[in-house]
Amino acid sequence: MAMTAVRSIGAGGPASLSRFRGALVASVLGDCVGGEFEGAEEVPMDRVLQHLNGLEDDNRGDCILQYSDDTAMTQCVVESLLTRAGFDERDMAARFALEYSHFPGRGYGAGVVQVLKKLASPTLNDVYQPAQAQFSGRGSFGNGGAMRAAPFALAFRKPDDIKKFSRLGAMLTHSCSLGYNGAVLQALAVHLSLQGALEKPHDFISKLISEMEEVEGEDAARSDARVLNEPEFPFCERLYKVKDLMEQNNVSIEEVIFKLGNGIAALHSVPTAIFCVLHCLEPREGLPEHYGGLERTMAYSLALGGDTDTIACMAGAIAGAHYGIDAIPQTWQRCCEGAEVAYDTAQRLHTLYLQSLTEGDSGTNSEPHSHSSAQPPTK
Ligand SMILES: [Mg+2]
Repeated sequence: MAMTAVRSIGAGGPASLSRFRGALVASVLGDCVGGEFEGAEEVPMDRVLQHLNGLEDDNRGDCILQYSDDTAMTQCVVESLLTRAGFDERDMAARFALEYSHFPGRGYGAGVVQVLKKLASPTLNDVYQPAQAQFSGRGSFGNGGAMRAAPFALAFRKPDDIKKFSRLGAMLTHSCSLGYNGAVLQALAVHLSLQGALEKPHDFISKLISEMEEVEGEDAARSDARVLNEPEFPFCERLYKVKDLMEQNNVSIEEVIFKLGNGIAALHSVPTAIFCVLHCLEPREGLPEHYGGLERTMAYSLALGGDTDTIACMAGAIAGAHYGIDAIPQTWQRCCEGAEVAYDTAQRLHTLYLQSLTEGDSGTNSEPHSHSSAQPPTK
């Protein structure tokens, strides 16, 4: 077995403030540093390390690297969850639309832009409808729901709530199960990491598989998989591949890309991001010895090429929840637009999370509320 238990020294106990901050700030970091290589087919590790070394240069000043749609939409999710003290689909949809109208140049995909424009309409009754109309009614299976899923793991503590609301939050733009189930998987990975589950990597991946077996057992997921010619339980199948790769002593980047993917589909990027975190729990050949696990995860995610900003953003959220904020070099944080905002909002989410614990103990409301008027929309 290639992996053993790995301690996340300094991250604090389960669901510590340090882990909350680590999750949100490293997600921004991944988005910002990943922009450099987005869409590149091959990214030599030398170039990645050069890019990351450049962040150490004091002369570069603050806010050099701008964030993209990943962080813009994550901020909308965070603000909506905080303002409404729970999930409110209309509020979240309105924030997405407003954010896009103010800053349309953040690298949104052409498909989601159509949805965001429709969500801006004051006469829209069903906020899930524009996403459902996408791609001849099949909906999008891109990773746009997953890239912004981390805050659901910070606002809710029960896995059932995390699954329910991360799914609904993703369905505002991605109504295909291969899109929204990627968001569920990403949120569950952040949740487990926040609880310290990455100290036992094999248990971590096994828990994710058993959660996703339930999630993908639903009729909609099975029928989407059939229509799209994917195996039954497509995310579980990928997670089993992650497990196999974990057992190997030497894994080439080409093999990871071939088996897991590095593209814009949620299926080809969420399991990949999870693998990046697991693979980098230990020192790896080709990565600087002085790098800690968080730095290794960042560098490795970028070296995979493809949808680098989103894969690094998702891997960052999971890794940050494990290692905590102190594992992210200050110089790196200072180079990223949005890192400071993430640092502050993580504290507000932590307060909300703790409130739900206290309220749960006293037997009253056990969770932030759902203002959702609808059941999960049917397709
Ligand atoms: Mg992006």
